[in-house]
Amino acid sequence: MAAVAFIGLGNMGSGMAANLVKAGHAVRAFDLSAEAVKRAGERGASAAASASAAVEGADAVVTMLPAGRHVRAVYEGEIFPAAKAGAILMDCSTIDVASARAVGEAAAQKGLDFVDAPVSGGVAAAEGGTLTFMAGGPEAAFRKAEPYLSKMGKAVIHAGEAGAGQAAKICNNMLLAIHMIGTCEAFALAQKLGLDPQKFFDISSKASGQNWSMTSYCPVPGPVPNAPSNRDYAPGFATAMMLKDLKLAMDAAQAAGASTPLGAQAEALYAMFDNLGGRERDFSGIYKLIDGSWRG
Ligand code: NAD
Repeated sequence: MAAVAFIGLGNMGSGMAANLVKAGHAVRAFDLSAEAVKRAGERGASAAASASAAVEGADAVVTMLPAGRHVRAVYEGEIFPAAKAGAILMDCSTIDVASARAVGEAAAQKGLDFVDAPVSGGVAAAEGGTLTFMAGGPEAAFRKAEPYLSKMGKAVIHAGEAGAGQAAKICNNMLLAIHMIGTCEAFALAQKLGLDPQKFFDISSKASGQNWSMTSYCPVPGPVPNAPSNRDYAPGFATAMMLKDLKLAMDAAQAAGASTPLGAQAEALYAMFDNLGGRERDFSGIYKLIDGSWRG
């Protein structure tokens, strides 16, 4: 049993911390929200008075925070000064590649082991311990992180050096946004051409247009019974989250000099859907914007 500091106990962190408790670890929980810390206490963690109090003497540290600025501030201000030699530090938040690299480099300079390890999978996967982790950092740090991450997920993949986990995450989600929008366009056109959506699904899911957005998450109600389209697009994966990831992808593309014309279009369309009231809806709800039936 190891002592694990867990910082950031929101929608995702709450279930992840509970899975570390279930695995037998002594979890010390900290969040700026006293309510979140209380909930973690009810799920078997012990409450820490501050991030640095949680980290002092801990064998492992997990952070699950909103954005790059929170991660930089918590690592620089609290975790680095308090971390014991040999502790493994894991940031599972989705943040910009530059911040992930900066935190990774600062950790290396201090002789601390750090991985950026963002996740694929939402709140249900965080609760169920079925997340996919994509990790960036030195091989030795990855080997130390893997036993902890595997208690919270079904797959843990080493993507490369510092920042590579975040790079993999935003490239994957940019691709997801593009094939979701493409799938929506195809279904909307099929319907306008008089095709029954189920018939189009039966054909395209066995033809070359087949993709995950269609076969696992169909944006039209009916063909995939557990998809958010069957519950009026209750998330799932909210549009606001998809838009955040697309902005990170576009910033990274600009910094790297990469050409991502469809990613840019996807960002523009998700920003429009967000502005028109789709923010809290599942990202597959953009179907209604594309077929013209969205009323906010
Ligand atoms: P959330 O807003 O529910 O939780 C974030 C928590 O961090 C909050 O409880 C907040 O109080 C806490 N926090 C902020 N600043 C802090 C600080 N300085 N010290 C301590 N605690 C602090 O967000 P979430 O949905 O749990 O997402 C967390 C991260 O996971 C984000 O980066 C998000 O992009 C990523 N993510 C979310 C999902 C999802 O479906 N929700 C899926 C994949 C990845």
